[in-house]
Amino acid sequence: EHPPKIAGKLTPMMAQYARIKSEAGDALLFYRMGDFYELFFSDAEKAAEALSITLTKRGHHEGEAIPMCGVPVHARDGYLEKLVRGGFTVAIAEQTEDPAEAKKRGAKSVVERQIVRIVTPGTVTEENLLDPKSPARLAALSVVDGKAFIAAADLSTGEVLVEEGPEGRLGDMLPPLQIRELIAAEGERLLQGAFAATEADPRSFSVEAAKGRIEAFWGVNEPSGLGLTEGGALRAIGGLLSYIELTHAGESIPLRMPRIGGQSDKLAIDEATRRSLELTETGEGSYKGSLLHTIDRTRTAAGGRMLRGWLAAPLTDRRAIEERHDGVAYLLSDHTLRDELISLLKGSPDLERALARLRLERGGPSDLGLVQRAVATGEALQARLRLEHTVPDLLAGLNVGDRLQGLAATLLSALTDELPLRVSDGGFLRAGFDAALDEAVSLQKNARQHLAAEEARLREATGIKSLRVKHDKTLGYCVEVGKAHADRLASQEGFTQRRTMTTAARFVTDDLTALSQRIADAEGEAAAREAAVFRELKEAVTDAAEELLDLAGHIARTDTLTSLAELAAEEDFARPALTDGTEFAVEGGRHPVVEAALRREGKAFVPNGCSLFDGEDAELQLVTGPNMAGKSTYLRQNAILVVLAQAGSFVPASSFRLGIVDRLFSRVGASDDLARGRSTFMVEMVETAAILHQATCRSLVILDEVGRGTATFDGLSIAWAALEHLHTESRCRGLFATHYHELTRLAEELPRLHPVAMAVREWRGKVVFLHEVKPGAADRSYGVAVARLAGLPESVVKRAGQLLKLLEDQSPAGGLVADLPLFGAVPHQPESERDEVRAMLDGLDPDDMSPREAHEALCRLKDLS
Ligand code: ADP
Repeated sequence: EHPPKIAGKLTPMMAQYARIKSEAGDALLFYRMGDFYELFFSDAEKAAEALSITLTKRGHHEGEAIPMCGVPVHARDGYLEKLVRGGFTVAIAEQTEDPAEAKKRGAKSVVERQIVRIVTPGTVTEENLLDPKSPARLAALSVVDGKAFIAAADLSTGEVLVEEGPEGRLGDMLPPLQIRELIAAEGERLLQGAFAATEADPRSFSVEAAKGRIEAFWGVNEPSGLGLTEGGALRAIGGLLSYIELTHAGESIPLRMPRIGGQSDKLAIDEATRRSLELTETGEGSYKGSLLHTIDRTRTAAGGRMLRGWLAAPLTDRRAIEERHDGVAYLLSDHTLRDELISLLKGSPDLERALARLRLERGGPSDLGLVQRAVATGEALQARLRLEHTVPDLLAGLNVGDRLQGLAATLLSALTDELPLRVSDGGFLRAGFDAALDEAVSLQKNARQHLAAEEARLREATGIKSLRVKHDKTLGYCVEVGKAHADRLASQEGFTQRRTMTTAARFVTDDLTALSQRIADAEGEAAAREAAVFRELKEAVTDAAEELLDLAGHIARTDTLTSLAELAAEEDFARPALTDGTEFAVEGGRHPVVEAALRREGKAFVPNGCSLFDGEDAELQLVTGPNMAGKSTYLRQNAILVVLAQAGSFVPASSFRLGIVDRLFSRVGASDDLARGRSTFMVEMVETAAILHQATCRSLVILDEVGRGTATFDGLSIAWAALEHLHTESRCRGLFATHYHELTRLAEELPRLHPVAMAVREWRGKVVFLHEVKPGAADRSYGVAVARLAGLPESVVKRAGQLLKLLEDQSPAGGLVADLPLFGAVPHQPESERDEVRAMLDGLDPDDMSPREAHEALCRLKDLS
């Protein structure tokens, strides 16, 4: 879609609008007019619809009324949020001169305006547009010779990351970065994902341009000094920095030096696996009900972001993971300490973001207050932890140095208790902190007392009791008397009448004019001095940015570890025992999210163990059981244990011995994926292929009902071959749920494949799920019994039972034969009807039907007989 073409004869204002709009391109243009941002033409139509605000008209263009809508300036952020979430970008054009200046140039001249900001999903820094507990990352991608480079920045904290990897692994590299917007050079492949994709000018991705920008942002003229040696990394950084410049109209954005290659020691989890395990959001895209939501006990926003980061990118380095476990264990063992830390952390402000606002020149006095309180939290945490004899490394690192202590003390003595958001609101400095300010303030106060005295004197002198000293916008302080006294006063020496109103008149005197000036000067001086002191304090803060960010990191980590310890205590989690081999032994494992859901219904979760290691080698399990027996839950809980363990958390199990996993794969049968509208078979095969290619002997693979998106025998053969490959080639640990009971025969041939089944009991013809995993294969699919549970009429269930028995009797024992004569003889039916019934039965796959579909099918069958 193209921006509206605005041409022909234009008013001066519309000409300016057209020029700015052409700069804004596809972005909606917020054009500042007084107290409103106005949108015109198709921008207005789109915004009015997206925001549910009134679309009106203003003026004409080429004979047609111009559509227009407006947003009040004070309510801007709320509307921006809606638009940005709705996938729009918004260009904000402000008035960049005083309207009075424009008037001086001529009555008709237009106030100058310029785009000062382009707001995109990845570049928002406004507090109310941000989720406090998620990073707001913007990333740029460059692919060179099959190698992918990603540079990512979180403008709300100033953090910058650079990652590289083979192009084929992009699918693994992107998700842990949790980006909101990905930019790529125009013409390059645009990736799809849970982020906005933006095309940018390819020239900004050049190595030369990148070098210039690196120098401008970090003052480094040799990029290799930052560890940026590869051309591709430079290109990505260049694209990133140039986009930041573009969207902020040259405003300087403080960024930390890039951190390089943090991902190489991370557990690889691709997007499909994240989705299927619902790590940070559910299948429907909500945070509520995700694993993160279930385990998050953090008390600060930065702690929340850190926990999210840990879960999104678990580690593979045993020492690093064990450090986190040590921290959790320490805090778990001492609940008094834990409670004390929690009460210190509660309400601790978001230091990272307050600091970023100050560095972005968007911060105010209240942000200085947040910095002071954060340092105070740090000091209190440090003091408390010092009382301990042996603190694990991750907790011991918290150290508020002299510089920060001094800074916090200064801020504390400088700032009042109630702090305004903006400097211009004034009154945020304590009396006694700055002599010059105090003097200006006392002049102001003095002058006010003088005014009161002067009023009394004037009443006396003139004999007019109703005389009052008032403030007039243009005259300053002046004398006001009622109409009746005006003439009398006018005749007195020293009173000049300057304004006559219907009921009163205003006079100036030399004394009052002088006093007005004194007060105005004192006010101006006080405001200027206060602003100057603010700048000094702000600079002292931003100069200490590195130390403050360090402290913010420590506080966040203390919060994260404390929250994990609290979780472990509340939910009875156990410390995982890690090894460098391929062990996998769970005892009493649980699925934390399912367990929490069951608990809300007053039900208990049945724990299950899982062993995927025979003492030397990795093993696979083949899980069978009827629908709803708990197969998926069992599969996923074992994957979630790995994610939690390697993220540094304890796990919902009574014990867990784990050889560190390098890559985690989880796939769910594609028929659950139908809504995505792609060929389910293709999706499934592409994803299965990826696993078969990438799984190593250190990986954990979870396949849930793979192959069911296809006709029965295709699916079975593919599942069969895939299992063989995982067993014999990949030799990984894995869990495989299937409704193809034939597959259990494979277990006889593959020594490291073990069949297990979800225990089910039949009781008076009804199925009872025990949710217990037992060795061996499930003997029947219980489809018919499940149908009864679902409420099918008894007659239908009975008839289905008869049919089932017939079918079972006719299929050859253990039958995996391509051409089963399944429906050879169904008795008591005339030939033609039987054909129809057979044709219909041929088209049914009971294991692949919902109870409702089964019901409908049975009804149709019944109609045929
Ligand atoms: P399947 O994959 O075999 O169709 P699910 O894993 O989806 O079955 O489980 C179905 C339901 O059974 C779950 O939503 C949960 O309520 C219950 N369930 C599963 N596992 C357990 C368990 N171990 N203990 C208690 N209830 C369970």
